[in-house]
Amino acid sequence: MRQPLDWQIASVKDIRPETASVKTFTLALPNWTAHRAGQHYDIRLTAEDGYQAQRSYSIASEPERRGEIDLTIERIEDGEVSTYMHEVLVEGDQIEVRGPIGGYFVWDASSRDQLLLIAGGSGVVPLMSMIRHRASAGASNATHLLYSSRTFDDVIYYQELEKLKSKGKGLEVFHTLTRSQPAGWSGFDRRIDEAMLKEVVKPLGKSLQAFICGPTLLVESAANTLVKIGIKPNQIRTERFGPTGTA
Ligand SMILES: Cc1cc2nc3c(=O)[nH]c(=O)nc-3n(C[C@H](O)[C@H](O)[C@H](O)COP(=O)(O)OP(=O)(O)OC[C@H]3O[C@@H](n4cnc5c(N)ncnc54)[C@H](O)[C@@H]3O)c2cc1C
Repeated sequence: MRQPLDWQIASVKDIRPETASVKTFTLALPNWTAHRAGQHYDIRLTAEDGYQAQRSYSIASEPERRGEIDLTIERIEDGEVSTYMHEVLVEGDQIEVRGPIGGYFVWDASSRDQLLLIAGGSGVVPLMSMIRHRASAGASNATHLLYSSRTFDDVIYYQELEKLKSKGKGLEVFHTLTRSQPAGWSGFDRRIDEAMLKEVVKPLGKSLQAFICGPTLLVESAANTLVKIGIKPNQIRTERFGPTGTA
């Protein structure tokens, strides 16, 4: 039987831009297995001389979609794997992957918890898998997404989030734009802080489950502040994507 840690060759079915520096890749998997929302795949690139580079990418799609997954990848300046994905890979190519991986940063729609989702930049990807899974499963648990981006143009999945929010099934989306805001912007306009978290968390009550994902500093700061305002550490799950703290 195939194990999640066996490598398989995926076919690139579709590539579409999300923002100027982010693309979504749909990969068709010969050995597809349903993932849990929040899990990731590893991608492995092998050069002609045998040199290999391997990175993890969260699954953006919901587990209900069979046979394929979406990965949403931000192009990191001088990044080995993300620049290859953005600049070299084309539809129809094949790529080595393994997964789904991870058993901690996961959420299942059968859980009745109120959900607090906090994202910085591409950290929204695994949380989007949870939101899409929640919608597919018809769940209506109160779910608040607080999503920090640099500018409006950097917001990933904006339209889809608006659409899901408008269905009135308990999803609320709070954006904060830390660098610049369009005219008439009514969302937050600063880095995530205590006052912001209190405002987003309060309507959810104390029995929530929190998932935080993004740059290391954002994740640590948000988790520490949640504890400060009374959320227990065992209610908070975190995933760190990379070294930068600038969202
Ligand atoms: C569990 C997990 C899930 C992840 N899911 C996603 C995802 O869904 N989408 C996504 O875009 N990324 C995701 N990442 C980050 C991803 O694995 C890579 O770290 C990222 O794409 C950079 O790889 P690279 O080879 O392009 O850059 P590298 O060649 O590794 O690094 C180049 C330079 O960029 C810096 N750098 C590395 N990673 C980051 C980063 N994330 N942010 C800013 N600077 C960085 C390095 O310090 C270095 O200076 C995830 C990471 C983990 C651990």
